[in-house]
Amino acid sequence: MKIMAVNAGSSSLKFQLLEMPEEKVITSGLVERIGYDNAVFTIKVNGEKVTVTQEILDHKVAVHLVVEGLIKHHIISSLDEIKGVGHRVVQGGEIFKTSAVITDKVVEQIRSLNDLAPLHNPANITGIEAFRKALPEVVQVAVFDTTFHQTMSEDAYLYAAPYEWYKNYGVRKYGFHGTSHQYVSERATKLLNNPEAKVIVCHLGNGASLCAVKAGKSVDTSMGLTPLEGIPMGTRSGNVDPAVLMLIAAKENKTYAEVLDDLNKRSGYLGVSGISNDSRDIVEGMNKGDYRATLAHKIQVKRIADYIGSYYVYMGGLDAICFTAGIGENAPEIRRDVLNAVKVLGITVDPVQNQLRGEREITTKDSKVKGFIIPTNEEVMIARETIRLGKF
Ligand code: AMP
Repeated sequence: MKIMAVNAGSSSLKFQLLEMPEEKVITSGLVERIGYDNAVFTIKVNGEKVTVTQEILDHKVAVHLVVEGLIKHHIISSLDEIKGVGHRVVQGGEIFKTSAVITDKVVEQIRSLNDLAPLHNPANITGIEAFRKALPEVVQVAVFDTTFHQTMSEDAYLYAAPYEWYKNYGVRKYGFHGTSHQYVSERATKLLNNPEAKVIVCHLGNGASLCAVKAGKSVDTSMGLTPLEGIPMGTRSGNVDPAVLMLIAAKENKTYAEVLDDLNKRSGYLGVSGISNDSRDIVEGMNKGDYRATLAHKIQVKRIADYIGSYYVYMGGLDAICFTAGIGENAPEIRRDVLNAVKVLGITVDPVQNQLRGEREITTKDSKVKGFIIPTNEEVMIARETIRLGKF
């Protein structure tokens, strides 16, 4: 059975067509620069990328091109072959404790959360509506970045701010990257052969978050009301004293929104190093002895180690630390330095395994806490949820 996994952004639409339940990727692709006359549509045909540049003014046209492309390139012979479409939705608030079959009511509920995720949810809805129009008979499912973290308890998700902010406006930690944290922690639990395992997932990509998972449930995570909270990232600052907003707004004659934009887009690796948001450039700078690149790396490592230490205490122990996403899967220097920073927990890195790629154990046999690389797969998670809820 063919299931489409979709991730719609404000000007982009990523998709993957999977054969389920085998979890085999049939094709994948991307529409970029939606809204422009030089938009780019890329689709993989027999492993080769086919790219077309043309005017694509909205998501409806983008979705039309995608489904047409599947037939034109003989990837499917009829649209009836697509049995379900799963959509990534960033913010599910407290409404969605699990994924949901999309109905008009569900779309309205997602829309009601727009205030909490003004950059993401409206774009996700645009993608959902375009696919509902293109494939009206097909089951569509919303899979939220936040639902996995809905198991956190109040002491973990509430800010120590006026309680009315939570009651009146939903101000609390929601956490993100939930599908990735769930996928990786489920895999780790299997590798450890222990359903009760305590694991920490380090999802380190351009966006980055950590998650403490106990017996398969998220008990804490580093992102908060928005993805800005937590560890520093490619361009995000992670935690800073909120008073910084006022100071910089006054010093640089900026609005709060502009300073927030600096914290979202000009901070993290990019802001500290002054070189790049890309970990490869940071590691290269570090190897050449560049002071600020080295500093960006050191700050990153310390802040990740701080979270690992606090989750170790919060969970009352730890069985494994898992690395995933672009940096977690591909940057041995960062894994090595993070694991060394928490070696007091009884962790010994295996330098040979740590240099390799793909799912593997990267600590020595006598290491009390294991380290793993576990490549994430959010699309498979979305397709699994689509099948589960589609009741095929
Ligand atoms: P993501 O957001 O998961 O796509 O991750 C993006 C980050 O992963 C960037 O900082 C990249 O530098 C990093 N990354 C991707 N591929 C590699 C690689 N081969 N080696 C080191 N870092 C990588």
